[in-house]
Amino acid sequence: MFCKLASGEIAAGTVYSDDRVVAFRDVAPAAPIHVLIIPRRHIENILAANKADEALLGHMLTAASRIARQEGIAESGFRLVINCNEDGGQSIDHLHIHLLGGRKLGWPPG
Ligand code: AMP
Repeated sequence: MFCKLASGEIAAGTVYSDDRVVAFRDVAPAAPIHVLIIPRRHIENILAANKADEALLGHMLTAASRIARQEGIAESGFRLVINCNEDGGQSIDHLHIHLLGGRKLGWPPG
């Protein structure tokens, strides 16, 4: 599913895209702003990322900051989350960073 979003095959609520990443609104938002940032290239999860992916991972993080500013939540604050495997709550096998904000977020997470 996310591969289709990444390749542009499915039109989603895209908020940012470039040659390496695509970001779109989560279909079931957990906060007023909930954006998913994914690499265009398929990487199953953070465990599957290797040394050669380090520049891409860094790019995903700077893209996340850029989107936080664009969405108007940079000053108020936000959270970036990567879920991994079952206990981490990963439900989609394509690496993604959640960008959450627009309300005060609880800690620790459930
Ligand atoms: P995770 O549980 O960390 O794997 O995150 C997967 C996220 O993808 C969940 O927050 C879902 O609501 C979201 N999601 C699933 N399918 C879609 C879709 N087609 N478009 C946008 N978000 C989706």
